[in-house]
Amino acid sequence: MNPIGIYIHAPFCTEKCPYCDFYSMPRAFSDMDAYTKAVIRDLRAYTGNGLQADTLYFGGGTPSLLGAARIGEIIGAVREWFGLSKGEITVEVNPTAQETWLENLFHGFAQAGVNRISVGMQSANEMELRQLGRRHTPRQAGRTVELARAAGISHVSLDIMLAIPGQTPESLMHTLAFCGETKAEHLSAYLLKIEPGTPFDTQRETLRPLLPQEEQVEELYLLAVAELERQGYEQYEISNFARRQNGVLLEGKHNKKYWCAQEYLGIGPSAHSYLFGKRFYSPADLGRFLQGCQTLPDGDGGGREEFAMLRLRLREGLCDSVWQAQFSEPLPRDYVRRAKKFVPAGLVRLCDTEPGFSLTTKGFLLSNALIGEILFGRS
Ligand code: SF4
Repeated sequence: MNPIGIYIHAPFCTEKCPYCDFYSMPRAFSDMDAYTKAVIRDLRAYTGNGLQADTLYFGGGTPSLLGAARIGEIIGAVREWFGLSKGEITVEVNPTAQETWLENLFHGFAQAGVNRISVGMQSANEMELRQLGRRHTPRQAGRTVELARAAGISHVSLDIMLAIPGQTPESLMHTLAFCGETKAEHLSAYLLKIEPGTPFDTQRETLRPLLPQEEQVEELYLLAVAELERQGYEQYEISNFARRQNGVLLEGKHNKKYWCAQEYLGIGPSAHSYLFGKRFYSPADLGRFLQGCQTLPDGDGGGREEFAMLRLRLREGLCDSVWQAQFSEPLPRDYVRRAKKFVPAGLVRLCDTEPGFSLTTKGFLLSNALIGEILFGRS
C-alpha cells in the first residue's frame, strides 16, 4: 500500500470570519487539551493496519492556536505509529500582532518537525482585509513569514483570495507583488464564494455592488496566473502555484494526494477520509468528537469518473499512462475525442507524446462545464 496522507482538523478560531463555512468554533480554547487527546485516541484506532504516512497536514480552523506542545504531541503519535520520518508536515497559521508568541511557536514547530506553514494572509490591502473581517494587517503577514524562516521552517505557502468585495486589478497586483517579496515557495489563490448560511450570505444584497462581476472575476484570475508565472510560480492546479528548487516543483504534497485520488485519513470534527477504498467523515460537532463518535460512510472512492474529475484540476491532466497505472486499461477514447473539440478555443491542450489532454488556464475558469462535457458529453 502507498503511504497515505493524514489530515488533522483543528476546529478553533479566535473569531469567525464572515465568509467562512469551515467547521470552527470561536473561543473554545478550554477544549484544546481534550481535543488533542481525542485526536491521538482516533489515530491509535488506525494502528495495526500497516498504514504508513508521508504527509501530515494540520488544517482548520486555526490549528496554530493549539500551540507547539499540542501539535508536537500529535506529530509524535503520527511518527510512532505511521512513520513520516522525512515527510511533509504542514500547519496552517494566521498572522497576528503577537510576535513573541509567533516566534516561540515557530521554534517549537521546527523542533517538533513542522517543515511547512500555510499562512492565511488573503490580501496585502488593509481595506480588503477589513472587508473580509480579518483581524491582521499585511505587515503582520510579512512578519509571520520572516519569523517562520528565522526559526528554520523551510517551506512557506501563502493563501490569497480573488474576487474580494472591492478588489481591482491594481489592488490584486499589489497583493501579488507583496507575495513575491516574501519569496514564498508556494501560493494558493482561491476565488471568494458566498457560502450559504454565512454572514456574507445574509449581507449578499449589501455586498452585491462591491463584488466583482463575472468578467471581472475572469480578469482577476487570468491576471493572477500571468503575474505569478512572471514571478516564477508554475500553476500546477486550478488554484495552486509553486516555485522550482533545483529543478523540483515545490507542490503541496499533501493536497496533491487529493487530486491524484490517493488515500488519506482525516481526524477531527468534519474531517473527511478516503481509506481502504471507502470515503467517510466525522460529524461537524466538537462535543461528539470528544466523546468518540463513529465516523459516517460517504460511499466508495476511487471510481473512474471521480479520478478523472480530480485529475483534471491538475495541469498534468489525464493521459494514457496515468490511466493505465490506475485502472490497467487505456484512457477512454471518448474523453479524448470530446476534449479535442475545445482545443481551437484554447480551453484544452492535447498531450504531445500519448493520448491525453489537460485544461488550460482559460479552461480552468470553465472547469465544471468542461469536465461535464468531456466526461459525460453534456454541457
Ligand atoms: S477563514 Fe480561517 S480564520 Fe477565519 S473563521 Fe474560517 S477557518 Fe477561522
